[in-house]
Amino acid sequence: MNSFQILVVEDDKPVRNLITTTLKANNYRYITSINGESAIMETASHNPDIILLDLGLPDVDGVEVIKRIRSWSNIPIIVISARNEDSDKIDALDAGADDYLTKPFSVDELLARLRVTQRRLALMQNSNIQESCYENGQLRIDYAKRCVYLAQEELRLTPIEYKLLCLLAKNTGKVLTHKYILTNVWGNSLDSNVGSLRVFMATLRKKLEKNSNSLQYIQTHIGIGYRMMRVE
Ligand code: CA
Repeated sequence: MNSFQILVVEDDKPVRNLITTTLKANNYRYITSINGESAIMETASHNPDIILLDLGLPDVDGVEVIKRIRSWSNIPIIVISARNEDSDKIDALDAGADDYLTKPFSVDELLARLRVTQRRLALMQNSNIQESCYENGQLRIDYAKRCVYLAQEELRLTPIEYKLLCLLAKNTGKVLTHKYILTNVWGNSLDSNVGSLRVFMATLRKKLEKNSNSLQYIQTHIGIGYRMMRVE
């Protein structure tokens, strides 16, 4: 039995039924809301483990729901949005969502997103934020020495590559938008810097993925941002 409880916020009945049927078949516990106000109330009263949140709700805008929940809670939020609305997803991620699903999505995609979030939760609960080392597959970051190793071999990273890697590592499992990364690494979020971010990310990735039997550490979300994946 999966002990995770999911709050499903979706006003579209067929989509809501698809989600709850999937959750039930996979032994998740769940509660449902059909609008934003009740989603905020259910979150406060049931304290679910994960929220699946449709962005297009009849009362409160989904992004507003995220902002309100984030004012008191860090519960992981996976947003569900309609296709071709990248700006919605970006606004949702910037407001504090962790991940997104695009409609129409498959049952497998839904379950995969839930697993990523569950791993992230487990990690957050087990690890001390002050930890001096980060480990993920063959990758190891020694924060005190500012050294990065891949399969015991030290990687030579530029200061910006190192900052990028630390930011992604700290947020393993979470999609970070270009704006978030630029603000945290460069100190501003000018659109004109997205190009340099892309270049630094490409070189960082080459260094990370050259000797690792094509293990993929960094996932690209085209037009949106990047995510560090937990590698088994
Ligand atoms: Ca909707």
